[in-house]
Amino acid sequence: MSRLANANRLVVKIGSALLVDSEGNPARPWLAGFADDVAALRQAGKQVVIVSSGAIALGRRMLGLQRAATLAQKQAAAAAGQARLMSAYEEAFSTHSIPVAQALLTPDDTERRRRWLNARATLETLLELGAVPIVNENDTVATSEIRYGDNDRLAARAAQMISADALILLSDIDGLYGRDPRKDPSARFIAEVAQITPEIEAMAGNPGALGSGGMRTKIEAAKIATRAGCAVAITKGSEQNPLQRLASGARATWFLPIASPRAAYKAWIAGSLAPQGALVVDDGAATAVRAGKSLLAAGVIEVRGNFEKGDCIRVVSSTGVEVARGLARYDAVDAARIKGLKGAVIFETLGYDAGPALVHADDLAQV
Ligand code: GLU
Repeated sequence: MSRLANANRLVVKIGSALLVDSEGNPARPWLAGFADDVAALRQAGKQVVIVSSGAIALGRRMLGLQRAATLAQKQAAAAAGQARLMSAYEEAFSTHSIPVAQALLTPDDTERRRRWLNARATLETLLELGAVPIVNENDTVATSEIRYGDNDRLAARAAQMISADALILLSDIDGLYGRDPRKDPSARFIAEVAQITPEIEAMAGNPGALGSGGMRTKIEAAKIATRAGCAVAITKGSEQNPLQRLASGARATWFLPIASPRAAYKAWIAGSLAPQGALVVDDGAATAVRAGKSLLAAGVIEVRGNFEKGDCIRVVSSTGVEVARGLARYDAVDAARIKGLKGAVIFETLGYDAGPALVHADDLAQV
């Protein structure tokens, strides 16, 4: 209960089974209750991002496809169904006057840093503006097979991207059990997982063991999110008002985060990315960066390497000491053109302006 109450920024993942009724239409009564839940969380000062499946299941019916068997048919179904999915969300949230916004991501957006930074900025802006972003995979342009369960992983990546502190996976089961409770009613319920060990993974069973996506992909998602500092809950979504139920103590398995989202993000920058270049900075900028401030273009003396926007780069003092690592907001060519310049003249120099920082404080990690 307190975990949900303590979270400021939540990602909630909803599967097709919850959203689409047996006739292949949006499950409007459920969605209305869910919108009430999200509105209540926002009233309590929380930001909510939804990761929603359902496009293919809705589109199938619209296009008269019995089963969307080929990849092209699934992509066609998604193209039709995504619009219907969004209009169902729009309708449900309009009673609360909450704007919803569609954000279609490809796994590539969440893995390639340049597009990742842009997608993150968009989601941040939507949250600032009071909208509820509704994320799905961009199925119509997906190049590989669309697998049910991929949205579990997408939700974890989205949680990582926006440094969410809780990810709620609404499932067809109320959490993780030592064995499949449908086969063994005496199966032990696991209320809390501090670490995802091989034993925990073994409990998830085979892919597709439980409903769409199965428990396996949920554990995979939990691994990604907990490493990014985000707590993860698996709880039953099919009842009316599932988030309200969770808040008042409904059964759930909680996976504990390994670090805070911010610390995990900085550790990822400092430790997991290969630097593609370096910015040599003056003493004033080195001091500012050491104090946790952004690296402004004005403090940069030299640009080394051939990095792209979003790549990891070293920040080096004029005496050659590495001060920090961070993600570049400009590529190497543009960085070289604006080095030493004040923020106010960046637009007239480049014809666009991505802010005065070459590396923003949020994306800088001390080394
Ligand atoms: N993106 C797919 C859809 O909207 C679903 C993928 C999943 O459920 O994991 O239909």
